[in-house]
Amino acid sequence: MSAELTAADAPAKRLSDYRPYPFTLETVRLDFTLDPDATEVRARLTFSPRQEAAALELDGEDLELVSVAVDGRALTPDDYELTKTGLTIPANVLPSQPFTLETVTRIAPSKNTALEGLYMSNGMYCTQCEAEGFRKITYYPDRPDVMARFHVTITGDQPVLLANGDLVESREGYAEWVDPWPKPAYLFALVAGDLRAHSGTFTTMSGRKVATNIWVRPGDEDRCDFALQALHRSMRWDEEAYGREYDLDIFNIVAVDDFNMGAMENKGLNIFNSKWVLASPETATDADYERIEGIIAHEYFHNWTGNRITCRDWFQLCLKEGLTVYRDQQFTGDMRGHATKRIDDVLSLRGRQFREDRGPLSHPPRPDHYREINNFYTATVYEKGAEIVGMLHRLLGAEGYRAALDLYFERHDGQACTIEDWLKVFEDSSGRDLSQFKRWYTDAGTPTLRVRDSFKDGTYTLEFEQETRPTPGQSEKLPRHIPIEVGLLSENGDEVLPSTVLEMTEAKQSFTFDGLATRPVPSILRDFSAPVRLERDVDTSELAFLLTHDRDPFNRWEAGRALAQKVLIGRVLGQETDASFSDAIGALLRDETADPAFRALCLNLPSEDSIAQALYDQGETPDPAAIYAAREGLARDLASAHKTLLAEIFTSTEATGPYSSDPEQAGPRALRLAVLRLLNRIDGGARAGALFASAENMTESLGALAALVQTGQDAAAMAEFRERWQGDRLVMDKWFLVQLANCPPETALERAGALTGDPLFTWKTPNRFRALMAGLSGNHAGFHRADGASYRFYADWLLKLDPVNPQVAARMSTAFETWTRYDEGRREKMRSELERIAAQPGLSRDLSEMTQRLLG
Ligand SMILES: [Zn+2]
Repeated sequence: MSAELTAADAPAKRLSDYRPYPFTLETVRLDFTLDPDATEVRARLTFSPRQEAAALELDGEDLELVSVAVDGRALTPDDYELTKTGLTIPANVLPSQPFTLETVTRIAPSKNTALEGLYMSNGMYCTQCEAEGFRKITYYPDRPDVMARFHVTITGDQPVLLANGDLVESREGYAEWVDPWPKPAYLFALVAGDLRAHSGTFTTMSGRKVATNIWVRPGDEDRCDFALQALHRSMRWDEEAYGREYDLDIFNIVAVDDFNMGAMENKGLNIFNSKWVLASPETATDADYERIEGIIAHEYFHNWTGNRITCRDWFQLCLKEGLTVYRDQQFTGDMRGHATKRIDDVLSLRGRQFREDRGPLSHPPRPDHYREINNFYTATVYEKGAEIVGMLHRLLGAEGYRAALDLYFERHDGQACTIEDWLKVFEDSSGRDLSQFKRWYTDAGTPTLRVRDSFKDGTYTLEFEQETRPTPGQSEKLPRHIPIEVGLLSENGDEVLPSTVLEMTEAKQSFTFDGLATRPVPSILRDFSAPVRLERDVDTSELAFLLTHDRDPFNRWEAGRALAQKVLIGRVLGQETDASFSDAIGALLRDETADPAFRALCLNLPSEDSIAQALYDQGETPDPAAIYAAREGLARDLASAHKTLLAEIFTSTEATGPYSSDPEQAGPRALRLAVLRLLNRIDGGARAGALFASAENMTESLGALAALVQTGQDAAAMAEFRERWQGDRLVMDKWFLVQLANCPPETALERAGALTGDPLFTWKTPNRFRALMAGLSGNHAGFHRADGASYRFYADWLLKLDPVNPQVAARMSTAFETWTRYDEGRREKMRSELERIAAQPGLSRDLSEMTQRLLG
């Protein structure tokens, strides 16, 4: 059991309370003697006071303190104050000159189920220190603005002993690592275990050779090459796109099965959830390959944006995350195509961040208070943070952006920075005033942008109005600086105004375009140039026109999306709908010049959750069962209307030759599966069954399985899949998820209940817990059953997980973040589950903060 503090013990931390640490930490020496139940950590920290008469405050939780000494003199308990959260040595016990503090502490990695600090996974030792896990290893100023050089020794009987930096000495049972780059404690890492390496070499742009290794459990070595090559591509890309070279002689990545996060950018020793490292065509889907490449890149890019330049405090988390997500998005765009990457990113932004921003958990990308920082690793910090960097890029242009980034690296290397420092480099390098732009960081909420247009005497006018609703703790919203990329098309589809960025800074603002012969068709917010909700009355014929003619691929897709949304909402509300969407889909299916991956994205209907959100935004109360029925009905109608064409595409996109996850193969495969999902509604699952039987890669196997689940005729395939893959933990996670996310809603809860009794439901493993619970909450109509039984089931499991792993329990509680959207009955039921969780005695700080914020 973890001794998490209760909510009452944890007051909110505030950005305005920031004070610099009164000591400089000169050197850090850590000696680990590993033992599952009693690992000894000897820490020697050399401090020099920066302030007179300051007490030395060190963070520490769940530690057994064996001894403390200052400059070799042992302290007695009378000399210091020891609490549940730290160790304080008063100023009168400390020398006024630089001094060395030596502590010995004992920890029990085998009992650490919260997976923060030093813990064990399948007999292997590993660490997770971001954000505040290092304090569970030793007493230390565990804050990102205290940066120091680490010298680490490890004594243990594991064959492989790893830490950050370069290896300076190694013999059986002992290793010594020195990291020459100052870093905060959250970037510390240690791994010890029976591991195998898949190794390579990377030569940097200045000709230095770097040893690269992917470390995995024995038996997994043959699933690492894609990750290794992705690492090399990332290293090269960061040199070419940002001029950033790697700075150690070795780069290690370790795959771990039990991991709370996706991956972690510890200096020179990245630790990954094994899900985002291991890949083979038989076990990983095309989407997995793309994600692995993106996450490898993301963690690698942190070496400069996060590690060399870090955050002053955790309120600035989006400084490193927003920028690094933006960089990995650029990288994936370069590797796999910008148009489809942008559409994927916007789908994710709307599905996660817009949803968060519309509910009780809405917060600014840079929050100004929190109780548990683990609860702020959110879509707003990451994805909206990336959108803000993208807007800066758009406002300054490619050259201006690069100049600002060059200045950022030059000015702040080795420092712990703030959002103010970041914006200042853009101001100094461009001469622009970004004080209004800064609101994107400090204000919560998604602005709504309303547009009206008019045409008179050759002049076309676009009139914009922006509004942001009140969010928790922020009632008054001032106008934001919004880059709006616009193009104008003539009625035959020619571009009469190529893409232009309009800068909106007022609450209401008009832009005019002269000298036009006829009224143009506007293409607004091209490439999704700002994270706003665009509202404009557009008739279906104009949307169909844009879906056919827009030069901007994002807005082309967006027009199709808007058409689908219109039809779906019409069906939910029982209104008449026309055939324009179906006709447009027919035209797109016939357009062989269009990229298959793009056509696949256009064929995917909006999710039930996004239809619910759209209804809510229009002031309607979403009915989950009606939404499910409308979406199923539209899919069936599209399949019937285009069945010959769809069947032809299904046949013509069959891959030949050996599997590759490259876009050239992945694109047609995505189109084929999108087509299958439609045909599946009218062929009784015949094609899905045949594909499941013949599939030789996981993309098709899982795609076919998902389609079969949808028809409710999956029992035999499910059993066969389980039989084949029961020994493969990553594939079995997919098995849990796919059946719950896709099954008919009336069966979802029953299935979830049965699955929790499956011996393979090892619920303390975060990946397995997430697979089952995310599957259920992702089944929109199944989760939002009118009787509230799914809510109760879900809440019961959060309560069960909380004492074991509060961080994961807290994150999974966001399934309830949309509770205010629904009818009175569902609202009450969700509210009472949240209240039941909140009232649980001994609830963790993590889950307690989340339920209280959810309840508002
Ligand atoms: Zn990151």
